[in-house]
Amino acid sequence: MDAEIIAVGSELLTPFRQDTNSLFLTDKLNSLGIEVRFKTIVGDDSERLTQAFRVALGRSRLIILTGGLGPTEDDVNRQVVAEVLARPLREVPEIRQRIEERFTRLGRTMAENNLRQTLVPEGAEWLKNRQGTAPGLWIEQDGIVIIMLPGPPRELEGMFEAECLSRLARLVPAQCLRSRVYKAVGLAESEVDQRIAPIYKTYSNPSTTILATPGAIEVHLRARAASEAEADSLLTELGEKIEAALGDHLFTSRGESLEEVVGMCLVLRRKTLAVAESCTGGLLAERLTRVPGSSNYFLGGAVCYSNELKTRLAGVPQNLLEENGAVSKPVALALAEGIRRHTGASMGIGITGIAGPGGGSDEKPVGLVFIALADERGTQVREFRFPGDRERVRLWATQAALEMIRRRIRD
Ligand code: AMP
Ligand code: MG
Repeated sequence: MDAEIIAVGSELLTPFRQDTNSLFLTDKLNSLGIEVRFKTIVGDDSERLTQAFRVALGRSRLIILTGGLGPTEDDVNRQVVAEVLARPLREVPEIRQRIEERFTRLGRTMAENNLRQTLVPEGAEWLKNRQGTAPGLWIEQDGIVIIMLPGPPRELEGMFEAECLSRLARLVPAQCLRSRVYKAVGLAESEVDQRIAPIYKTYSNPSTTILATPGAIEVHLRARAASEAEADSLLTELGEKIEAALGDHLFTSRGESLEEVVGMCLVLRRKTLAVAESCTGGLLAERLTRVPGSSNYFLGGAVCYSNELKTRLAGVPQNLLEENGAVSKPVALALAEGIRRHTGASMGIGITGIAGPGGGSDEKPVGLVFIALADERGTQVREFRFPGDRERVRLWATQAALEMIRRRIRD
C-alpha cells in the first residue's frame, strides 16, 4: 500500500511555517512498510483542496489529510471531503458532549463555531483527540482509506499513534522498512557516486539515495522486508560493500554527525580537547558542545578574534603576528599549541582564516583557512581554500577541523 499526504494550511505556503507533520507521518508509515509516494501542500481553499483531493483519489490507496479540522471558517477539510465523496455531514452527539466536557473542565465557555467539529461525513468513523477538541476522521471508500488528522503536531502525533497505527497495521501485510545512513567527508558527491554507483545499481532493495550536505555526503539505504531482521541483513549486505568502497572517508554508518563521532573517539582514547578559534568565532566549540556528554572531553577554548586576544588568550607571540599576519601557518600552530598549554588539554586546535566577504587579497584570498592540531605527538597544520560565502567558509572550516581530529585519533 502506498500513501499520499495532503498538508492543508495557508501558513504552510509562506516562508514562516514548515510542514513537519508529513515528516512524522512518513516515519511512522515507513515503520509499517508503507511508502509515501506523493505529498501536496495546499492552502485553506475549498476549490484547490478539492482539486488536490480528487487527484489523490485517482492514484493513492491511502490518503492522509492534515490540518483544516479546526472550528474556524478557514478550516474547510471536513466540507470538501464530504462533498467530493458525496457523503452528507451529520452531527455526532458524542463528539459534541466530549467537546462541551472539555470546555467545562478547562473552565471556559464553548463558542458556537466549535459545533462544526461535531460534524462527520456519513459512514465515517471519528478518531478521539486526547490533546484538543477536533476529532480526526477515518473513511473507507472503494478500497481507499482516507484519514483526516488535526494540524497541531501534538494532537496529530497523539491521535495517529493511538488511533491509526494499529488499524493500518491490520490493513497491510507484515512488512517493515529500515534505513541506514552513511556519511563521508573529504569526497565530492560525484566522487562518492563514482565509487558506489556500480555497487548500488545492482540492488533495487535496498534503495539508495545520495545527498550532499554542507561538509558531508550522505548515503541513505532503505530496505523493505517481512521482518526487521531480514531488512537489516539486506542493509548489511549492501552496506558492507559501500563501506569498503568509501574506506576511511566514511565516518559513520549510523547517521551520526561528525562532532558526535569525534566525541566518541575522544572518549574512547580518554583524550581532552580545547580550541582557539579566530575566523570561526566559536562555531567549532558550539558544534562540539551540541553533543550531550561533551563535557567528558571538551574543556573549552577561546574566541580570539583580535590579535591582542590571540596573544593574551592563546599566547601567540606578538612578533609572529607581525611577521606573518594573523592568517598564517605559524599563527595557526601557535594558537593550537598555546590553547593546549593554557588549558592542559591533550589536544589543541587553532583556526585562523579569511571568511570574507572582505579582507581577502591575491596572496590571501577569501576562503583561505589554516587549521592546526597540537597533541603529545607534535603539531600539524593544514592549509585549506574553501569555496562559498562567509557562512559556508566558516562551516567548512569547523568540518575540516573535526575531520583532522578524527583522523589524528584514529591513526
Ligand atoms: P489547523 O488544524 O489547520 O487549524 O492547524 C493548527 C495549527 O497546526 C497551525 O496553525 C499550524 O501551526 C499547525 N500545523 C498545521 N499543519 C501543520 C503541518 N503540516 N506541519 C506542522 N504544523 C502544522
Ligand atoms: Mg489550518
